Amino acid sequence: MKIGFIGLGNMGAPMAANLVAAGHQVTGFDPAVSCPEGVTRAATAAAATDGAEVVITMLPNGKILRGVADQIIPAMAAGAVFCDCSTVDVESARAVADQARAAGFGALDAPVSGGVGGATAGTLTFMVGGDDASFATVAPLFEVMGQKAVHCGPSGSGQAAKICNNMILGATMIVTCEAFALADKLGLDRQKMFDVVSTSSGYSWSMNAYCPAPGVGPQSPADNGYKPGFAADLMLKDLRLSQQAAEAADADTPLGAMAMALYAQFVEQEDGAGRDFSAMLPRFEKRGRG
Ligand code: NAD
Repeated sequence: MKIGFIGLGNMGAPMAANLVAAGHQVTGFDPAVSCPEGVTRAATAAAATDGAEVVITMLPNGKILRGVADQIIPAMAAGAVFCDCSTVDVESARAVADQARAAGFGALDAPVSGGVGGATAGTLTFMVGGDDASFATVAPLFEVMGQKAVHCGPSGSGQAAKICNNMILGATMIVTCEAFALADKLGLDRQKMFDVVSTSSGYSWSMNAYCPAPGVGPQSPADNGYKPGFAADLMLKDLRLSQQAAEAADADTPLGAMAMALYAQFVEQEDGAGRDFSAMLPRFEKRGRG
């Protein structure tokens, strides 16, 4: 397939490289970084879409996505599908999909989970919103870049699934870290705490697969000085998107709001910036109730 790929950062570059390795013809654009090997560099975002059957974007946020959409939609080839894989607000996802459809193109929002490791290994999970025909066109590319693609519903559903998942993850990680810090103060051994909780009703992905306590459970960023992994900064971004969506939809999300406030404090006022999101455990360890 002929593919345009816009945004070749930490995630976009390995995703584009996997498409090239699978035999696809990829033209890329990013103003700040060089193209991975095998990707043809275009001079502008619009030029990267030239003749492409699918145009993929992997950008930092909704504002930048809207700007790129304004540049590329007028330049896209007839019959092409616009597939945005960035994590952005639901409103921006719906707006660019409407804009692409109004110009006669297919459109998908297809944010991912799996991080840079998943992007490199081609094992991402795609959460996809949009029409059936566009999903069918892009499905073979999701198979190359990932291990699973769930078609969640109409435009915006992919972003909705992503931020709901990450709201659960953020709140669950916080309470898992709180519980370890409480266990410490009650004199409960961390390994015993893991042995009980990981096989009891408090179990979760945060406890069982990504345990925030060093030396306990499977290998995780806690065993590597809390180097990300999934950075607390990115968790904060996703929690903010969840609360923006909750506000717009009039949904009551008190724990999501509290998780956002705690990650904001951790990243912006404490030492959380650039650390893994599970570094909430050493944060709680040092604190008392006051
Ligand atoms: P990144 O900052 O490494 O990459 C974004 C790229 O977009 C940069 O190279 C930047 O130069 C480029 N860019 C900015 N403005 C542009 C423009 N106008 N035209 C073309 N390119 C432009 O970020 P990333 O880690 O690759 O993340 C990309 C998206 O994926 C984000 O929305 C992020 O939330 C999401 N995501 C990231 C992870 C992760 O672990 N890094 C995991 C899941 C989802």
